Amino acid sequence: MLNGTTAEIVERKALRINPAKTCQPIGAMYAALGIHGCMPHSHGSQGCCSYHRSHLTRHFKEPVMATTSSFTEGASVFGGMANLTQALRNIFTIYDPEIVAVHTTCLSEVIGDDIPTIVNKARQDGSVPEGKVVIHANTPSFIGSHVYGFSNMIMGMVNYLSEKTGTTLNQINVIPGFVEPADMREIKRLAAAMAVNIVMFPDTSNVLDGPLTGQYKMYPEGGATVAQIRSAGDSIATIALGHFASHVGASTLEQKCNVPAAFLELPVGIGGTDRFIDALRGYAGVEVPAAVELERGRLVDLMSDLHQYFHGKRVAVSGDPDQVIALTQFLLELEMKPVFAITGSPGNQFEKRMHELLDGPVPTAKIKANADLFELHQWMKNEPVDLLITNTYGKHIARVENVPFVRYGFPILDRTSHRFFTTVGYAGATNLINQMINALLDKKDRECEEEWFELVQ
Ligand code: SF4
Repeated sequence: MLNGTTAEIVERKALRINPAKTCQPIGAMYAALGIHGCMPHSHGSQGCCSYHRSHLTRHFKEPVMATTSSFTEGASVFGGMANLTQALRNIFTIYDPEIVAVHTTCLSEVIGDDIPTIVNKARQDGSVPEGKVVIHANTPSFIGSHVYGFSNMIMGMVNYLSEKTGTTLNQINVIPGFVEPADMREIKRLAAAMAVNIVMFPDTSNVLDGPLTGQYKMYPEGGATVAQIRSAGDSIATIALGHFASHVGASTLEQKCNVPAAFLELPVGIGGTDRFIDALRGYAGVEVPAAVELERGRLVDLMSDLHQYFHGKRVAVSGDPDQVIALTQFLLELEMKPVFAITGSPGNQFEKRMHELLDGPVPTAKIKANADLFELHQWMKNEPVDLLITNTYGKHIARVENVPFVRYGFPILDRTSHRFFTTVGYAGATNLINQMINALLDKKDRECEEEWFELVQ
């Protein structure tokens, strides 16, 4: 399918081929699903909402509920006020959510609809019932990416909901980043293992990885409650995981409610997880329990056992910026060589941080933000790699270049179990190692000469 990709690289400015990102509302919709009893609402045309819902459904293999303002030509010309007002009335009447999280689309952004004014008027005319909550985030897709949409919706949660009452609660906020439900579950498990009380928002565990019970629930058990997000303003501190997805939410909370924030990267690998555990330990004033130290020790043992297979392997990585930054550090811990690293999301912090990480150990590494998979493929054609790690869109490259491939990040459309297997924490690092070693050794077993085909590795 990508047999025609050429090795000759032509500088492009206004054209993306095989983009490595998607549009802002998808991130906003995903974040909104991490609020308990929430109906995400897409203020735009039906096509946008259908695409965003189906993309999330294809990744999570779960039905994703969302409503739409259903713009037609009239709304495009006169604005979407009437549509949103009617939509809010319908949503609360028919679906009875506790909260509606409105995000915009390209069209409503270009029109310039003033969402807070529309929602205020809707509240005054009774379209929003007493006691029900509406929040919003501006998510123009012609800038940023799905990660920015996720971040903007978290900022909306803080702006609309979080309050400081003056009574500090014995709890720590965690903003987990654009990660899988299994990752959010793992973050909660680690905090519980350390006896630290956390409020995590958003939290899509038990929303998009819930059990099959035979009974359909429009609003599953999981998700951070509105009350919990309100109480975030009274927490001891906030731990924000990932510059691009979480830092804006944490700094907004810091400014609004004076809750101090620790700005960390995703807890992927040994170092990333250590820093997260240490932040929990420091803020909560607890000791790291033996059970968590044991988990870490087992991971170190595994890394040591498999060092011979990973050492010096050339790796190409693509994905969301927070994931690529965190994963690159883990690859370096394994003494692999991340020679190519791209993200489709814009933002200077990606290249700056990646150069800090790679200029020493891999000085020839190619790093690019706002890039696309076509260019990554061209780099791989010129300088082949041993392993490719990215989302499902990398499978075409892996096939045509015959490179071992590990699916990581968003979206994964052609496999099913990613939402159950964490990639954060010490357990997540073990899972990543398992996937990488299997990909590398499967290729060796498939292709090596008879005398190198070993029963024991
Ligand atoms: S890029 Fe804009 S128009 Fe296209 S699906 Fe996303 S929000 Fe809708």
